[in-house]
Amino acid sequence: MVAGAEDNNQARFDRARIATLIAGSQPDDPLAILRPEVLRRTAQSFLRGFPGQVSYAVKANPVPDILRILVQTGVTVFDVASVPEMRAVRAICPTARLHYHNPVRSASEIAQAKALGVASWSVDRMSELDKLGDLPKGTEVAVRLSLKRGGAAYDFGSKFGASPDVATTLLRAVAARGMVPTLTFHPGTQCTDPASWADYIAASAEVAERAGVHLPALNVGGGFPSLPRGGAALRERLFKTIEAANKAHFPNQPPLLWCEPGRAMVAEAVWLVLRVKARGDGVLTLNDGLYGALGEWRDMPVPSRQIALTAHCQPVLGKPQPFTIFGPTCDSLDRVPDPWMLPSQITDGDYILITGAGAYSTALVTPFNGYGTTDLRNLDSMPEPAGQCRLAG
Ligand SMILES: *Cc1c(COP(=O)(O)O)cnc(C)c1O
Repeated sequence: MVAGAEDNNQARFDRARIATLIAGSQPDDPLAILRPEVLRRTAQSFLRGFPGQVSYAVKANPVPDILRILVQTGVTVFDVASVPEMRAVRAICPTARLHYHNPVRSASEIAQAKALGVASWSVDRMSELDKLGDLPKGTEVAVRLSLKRGGAAYDFGSKFGASPDVATTLLRAVAARGMVPTLTFHPGTQCTDPASWADYIAASAEVAERAGVHLPALNVGGGFPSLPRGGAALRERLFKTIEAANKAHFPNQPPLLWCEPGRAMVAEAVWLVLRVKARGDGVLTLNDGLYGALGEWRDMPVPSRQIALTAHCQPVLGKPQPFTIFGPTCDSLDRVPDPWMLPSQITDGDYILITGAGAYSTALVTPFNGYGTTDLRNLDSMPEPAGQCRLAG
């Protein structure tokens, strides 16, 4: 596993550079650290491994540095949910292809999106298709299908998506109006079950068949898991399953596949550096919490690893024990639901490095109670690791 060894070396090097930063500047506010090399490698693994075209779901992390690195690496198609996301993408890449795959929009948003030249729109009900009005020839309209099934950490099917019956009617209507009819779905975020994609692809083939529509493209959504370990192997398996299902269920002319990962593209590419403000009895109050970059922890544990470091870039000593984690605000809801295992000697002023924190982290930060930072530093612009910090972590 060459890729795994490279990742480990990169992680070791990045940890040392971050430890050097901590020892040098003792940051008191939360810091997000972008690991450009990891982002480039992840983007390349999607571009090479996915059996179709790759877009990036901007909402997972919209910072300009990330969009820029993705464009430089060859990802020039973006799933956007709002006009500001479209503008953020176009500011980095004026020719980017935009997929406006939020199926519900206001009339004003539709007008602005048309002016911005959206290439693909998604719909999950007739009233929203009607609202789109005339679209330029060749514009894709992707009918969003939902099977209301589980298999993911956080189900997306409960909010958006048409049943197979409604999707059939919609697909027919899209074709009748002269737009390019395609299908899209989202199996739910952090989905580890290959059968979820296979079932959706089978259902898509059935919908297209019943609608009597040839599908030029099928968008299999995001939802790819970010797993700190075994992630690459699982992703390969998902890609193979998707490719095989596409061939099996569309034996004559398989549609061009699209994917739109958010989480899996950026999770490993950002680490968070948080600080312990105060230790109580089995309790740590950190300088960031659920109103900040830990927002997603309210709904589910995020696959990540917490590494405790002293302010002098030494590992914190002691056997791991569970700590209740509170954020800095005065709201008692500002608490991570499940305890974190951290070394017993962790104390005021120590740091916690959280790996795998690039998705739905800084994107969710609020200024509540005067806290919340979106300070994102690029690791490439940081000093080389100092000798005494090489051992850290
Ligand atoms: C959020 C979202 C994605 C990305 O989902 P991940 O689970 O982060 O990969 C992709 N497509 C659409 C339409 C979304 O809303």
